[in-house]
Amino acid sequence: MTNIVLFGKPGAGKGTQAEFLKEKYKLTHLSTGDIFRYNIKNATELGKLAQTYMDKGDLVPDEVTIKMLQSEVEKNPNTAGFLFDGFPRTISQAKALDVFLASKNEIITATIALEADDDILVARLLDRGKTSGRIDDQDEDKIRNRYQEYNEKTAPLMGYYKEQNKFHAVNGIGTIDEITVRLSDVIDNL
Ligand code: ADP
Repeated sequence: MTNIVLFGKPGAGKGTQAEFLKEKYKLTHLSTGDIFRYNIKNATELGKLAQTYMDKGDLVPDEVTIKMLQSEVEKNPNTAGFLFDGFPRTISQAKALDVFLASKNEIITATIALEADDDILVARLLDRGKTSGRIDDQDEDKIRNRYQEYNEKTAPLMGYYKEQNKFHAVNGIGTIDEITVRLSDVIDNL
């Protein structure tokens, strides 16, 4: 399998690019944010639990997120690989993912980061908030809180994957097509 982690700050364009990459490389796209939002919409127990954290821009606890992610992976036994979007977001999630994949004789092939400046990203999110209906996109304080969560808990993952020689970064500023090309160049050379 080819297992790719799409990495980047909120608003970096992970979800947008995942839509193209999943088609091009026949990967199963797993967005933890989308799965949580689906559960919130359907008022499941998981959704109710996640909502309190998400609305504030806090991360959902690792235990809940890891369990959910594993069950989504289990639903796709015959896939050519996974495109992880929004997961892992903490070192403990990354370690749990490695252990879980190892139990299936699989590994993370590569992590690719979409890079962009915070100011551009905050503006993108506020813009998205006008149409997405996402509470966490509509308030600058909540957005800033998500960046704080990212800096504290998610940024250390760069070192984690660099140590494994699995970290790649592309410029996340440009047209959607340009960025798809940059990501594809990395994947084609893995
Ligand atoms: P964005 O990248 O724009 O913040 P996502 O849809 O990926 O959007 O995530 C939205 C929210 O969902 C996060 O702020 C967090 O509350 C929750 N979430 C998503 N993925 C994870 C994760 N791996 N661990 C913990 N919480 C998560």
